[in-house]
Amino acid sequence: MKRPVVELSDCIRCEVCVEACPAVFRMNDAGFVEVADLSIYPEEEVNEAIKNCPADCIFWQDD
Ligand code: SF4
Repeated sequence: MKRPVVELSDCIRCEVCVEACPAVFRMNDAGFVEVADLSIYPEEEVNEAIKNCPADCIFWQDD
């Protein structure tokens, strides 16, 4: 199974991914992006977030 991962050291916290795919990406209380723990990820929406992330810091990782 593959899951989306955010490279937090590159993330500029713009929240574009949260807008593109709120089922997967959210800002936590500390102001960092978190990836929801799902068994299946909505591939198209995640790909949209990947495409629009200005810092290019979201990628798919195989478990
Ligand atoms: S779109 Fe990219 S840079 Fe913006 S908050 Fe999401 S992961 Fe961070």
